[in-house]
Amino acid sequence: MKYISTRGNSPAQSFSQILLGGLAPDGGLYLPESYPHFSDADLTAMRGMSYADLAFTILSRFIDDIPATDLRTIVDKTYRPEVYCHVRAGQNAADITPTLTLEPHLSLLSLSNGPTLAFKDMAMQLLGNLFEYVLDKVGQEINILGATSGDTGSAAEYAMRGKKGIKVFMLSPHQKMSRFQTAQMFSLQDPNIFNIAVKGVFDDAQDIVKAVSNDHAFKAKHKIGAVNSINWARVAAQIVYYFKGYFAVTQSNSEKVSFSVPSGNFGNICAGHIARMMGLPIDKLIVATNENDVLDEFFRTGVYRPRDSAHTYHTSSPSMDISKASNFERFVFDLVGRDSAKMRELWSEVDQGGAFDLNEGGYFAKVGDYGFVSGASNHEMRMKMIRWVHDEYGVTIDTHTADGLKVGLECRERGDNLVVLETALPAKFEDAIQEALGHTPERPADLVGLEDLPQRFEVMAADANAIKSFIAERT
Ligand SMILES: *Cc1c(COP(=O)(O)O)cnc(C)c1O
Repeated sequence: MKYISTRGNSPAQSFSQILLGGLAPDGGLYLPESYPHFSDADLTAMRGMSYADLAFTILSRFIDDIPATDLRTIVDKTYRPEVYCHVRAGQNAADITPTLTLEPHLSLLSLSNGPTLAFKDMAMQLLGNLFEYVLDKVGQEINILGATSGDTGSAAEYAMRGKKGIKVFMLSPHQKMSRFQTAQMFSLQDPNIFNIAVKGVFDDAQDIVKAVSNDHAFKAKHKIGAVNSINWARVAAQIVYYFKGYFAVTQSNSEKVSFSVPSGNFGNICAGHIARMMGLPIDKLIVATNENDVLDEFFRTGVYRPRDSAHTYHTSSPSMDISKASNFERFVFDLVGRDSAKMRELWSEVDQGGAFDLNEGGYFAKVGDYGFVSGASNHEMRMKMIRWVHDEYGVTIDTHTADGLKVGLECRERGDNLVVLETALPAKFEDAIQEALGHTPERPADLVGLEDLPQRFEVMAADANAIKSFIAERT
């Protein structure tokens, strides 16, 4: 299996060659040359498989340059109930992503039982084990540099902690994250994890990461890498739970399922698109956004119009507060018939801060063939949904999942079997739950008292040169 760039001007690469990198050299995103396909007989054989068996069956179609026995070991080490232990009472951690049926044909797929209580653990834990394996094979090291306002940074740190050949330098805005998020990251005592609290806002931290990455000499000398959401292995890992969720709520392959996905960077739902292309009987893929509705606008109108930071709003579902959806390019590549010249044309607009309209050329008319529909939510709707699910079903959901449920119910048609992806546990967003329900959510027992643990972090000025020196002294 070779991987090609959406922009068409980079050589095809193997899985291991693209694993540690980010964008393709031509600025595009990597995708497999063609999608593997599962037949009806394949699906029947996969029904009833454990999560790790399913993950191996699916991932081995995408990864052919890691020996099967080694891939098996990596997958088994990743998808264990001990890692994904934060299930609700009555759910079985051995399912890794258990479903919670609210009523017939309406379920939640629990993706946030991992160490950091958000769905990013599903892919990031695999990435940590893949990185360690591949680096060890070639005798190399990597120093991961990132900026976070919450979920991504902690998922990366919990995936990379204690891993051989890997150090993590994670910048976060000083005193701007919630107490829980701060404690989750800063209480890690592993010597390969460096938390840097930057005096400034998230954009300042992000700008420093960009400045360091643009210093190509520094980047090469200190082996700087990233684990951002465009990483192909993260998307690949996320394909698995669409299959798991599908089998959990159907009896036979003749049934269809619709998935509603709380979306920001389009990484999660992009995996759903690929699962559908691989033959999984998915009916609708429902893109749910919050007030930052760049994706909803596209799926309603055919116009993709990324926003600037002044038009990116801070909301109570903060992990979906994005102005442009970095993985969206992967879907558009398929929508325009994998025409890389067209992609270069479209993204030359986007990369200059512009927009494009896919009604031109008749492309937008084909969106329905891919199952996509969309909607947007807002703070008031989230609060309403959290209260409704609590009162109606005795279940507490977080704000992101509430956006997914709100839009999912709106897009549902009679007879649809709807699965809403639960992307975070409510314990992560105590203030919002307090506002909605008048009490704080239950916290998993092993995280009680998290804020009282000793913390390890450096406070630094928002100065790229100072951060470079900090990294240079430690690599
Ligand atoms: C990252 C995140 C999302 C958005 O996922 P994308 O892949 O960026 O679309 C939704 N909910 C939560 C809780 C997240 O952490």
